[in-house]
Formats: sequence, C-alpha cells, structure tokens
Amino acid sequence: MNDMLTIALSKGRIFKETLPLLAAAGVEPAEDPETSRKLILPTNRDDVRLLIVRASDVPTYVQWGAADLGVAGKDVLMEHGGEGLYEPVDLKIARCKLMTAGPVGFTGPANGRLRVASKYVKSTRAHFAAKGEQVDVIKLYGSMELAPLVGLADIIVDVVDTGNTLRANGLEPMEHIADISSRLIVNRAAMKMKSARIKEFMSLVESAVAG
Ligand code: AMP
Repeated sequence: MNDMLTIALSKGRIFKETLPLLAAAGVEPAEDPETSRKLILPTNRDDVRLLIVRASDVPTYVQWGAADLGVAGKDVLMEHGGEGLYEPVDLKIARCKLMTAGPVGFTGPANGRLRVASKYVKSTRAHFAAKGEQVDVIKLYGSMELAPLVGLADIIVDVVDTGNTLRANGLEPMEHIADISSRLIVNRAAMKMKSARIKEFMSLVESAVAG
C-alpha cells in the first residue's frame, strides 16, 4: 500500500490540537477516537489513515515504518532517542516544560544521594549528568507527584503546564530542563519513497502552524 499515508498519533490533547492542522492538509478523521474503539481510523481521504496509539509508542511505529508520519511530544522523543526518524516540523501544540519539582522549600536530601522519580528516565539521567550530580533515578509510569509525598523519592522530573497539579500536592517547580511541544515526525525510508506526498503534507501543515 505504497500510496497510503499512515499517520500515528495519540488520543486526547495531541489529537484535539492536531485536528486543525490535519484539516489544513485536507485530512478529516471519519470517526472520533474518543468514542470509537477502532485503532485504525479512516479519513475523508482513501489514501490517508490514522493509527491511534499510546503517546510513548508513536515514535516506535514511525521508526519501524508501520506509520509514515506521527505526532509526538518532544518529551516522548527525548526518551525514545529519535533513531530512524526525521523531526522536520515543530507543531507548537501541547506546549509545556520538562522540570524538576519537589516539596515546597526543598533544598536537598538529609543524607545520601538525591532520589529522583520520573517516567522520563533518560532525560532525568542526562540532566543530572550534565550537572555532574550523581542521583538515583526511580522509574515510574505515572502519578509522579505522589512519590515525594510518601518517601519514594526526594523530587520528581515531570512535564508542567500550569503547575496546578504540583501545587495541589504540595510541590513546586524547581529547575527548567526543556521546553516541550509536539513535533511532526517522519520515517526516514518513507521520506524517500513517498517524498512528494510527504513534502506536500508537511508544507500544508507548516503553513497552518505559521498561520
Ligand atoms: P498542570 O497544568 O501543570 O497541572 O498539568 C496537568 C498534568 O498534565 C500534569 O501532571 C502534566 O503531567 C500533564 N501535562 C500538562 N501538559 C502536558 C503536555 N503538553 N503533554 C503531556 N502532559 C502534560
């Protein structure tokens, strides 16, 4: 199906904010992923389909060519590493910041190494390595804010938007690690094999982002 363009993206915020960009490229999903149970969503165009996958799986589908294109957060891409992918367009959606956060007034562990809980293990290690600081990193899959409250970790690394979730749990943002937004990603082989179609799609999306 070399004439089919397959785009991987996740439900929720990224899907909602990507819709107008897809529309600008002439692509409208035939069903709403929030109510449909389908994982392959047809669109108004016979030659474009959407794959609904977990946000952290989007780069994997694109890397292995199961999807030609994808929409993934920079936080997810930093963890994935970006092998096999081009990252040509910053879509400037789902913006937030990757930060360290800890209990209000936290200045350091009473003794021993700092314990940091995060689902962003790679970014966390890189951040503290760059500062020459040895820390213990504890991998979690969600609800990171809980970890410092129950003594699992001293601080966390998480994405922060308004900071309301941190504040509601007695935490505050500490260090800024990276600005995050969603990116259009492209499989390297597909970029060559379907070059004309992908470039056309990319330029329509880019114009919509700029507009
Ligand atoms: P906040 O507005 O800081 O309270 O964010 C609410 C929750 O949504 C936090 O726990 C974040 O982990 C998550 N969040 C906020 N913005 C994003 C984003 N752009 N991508 C993924 N998760 C986000």
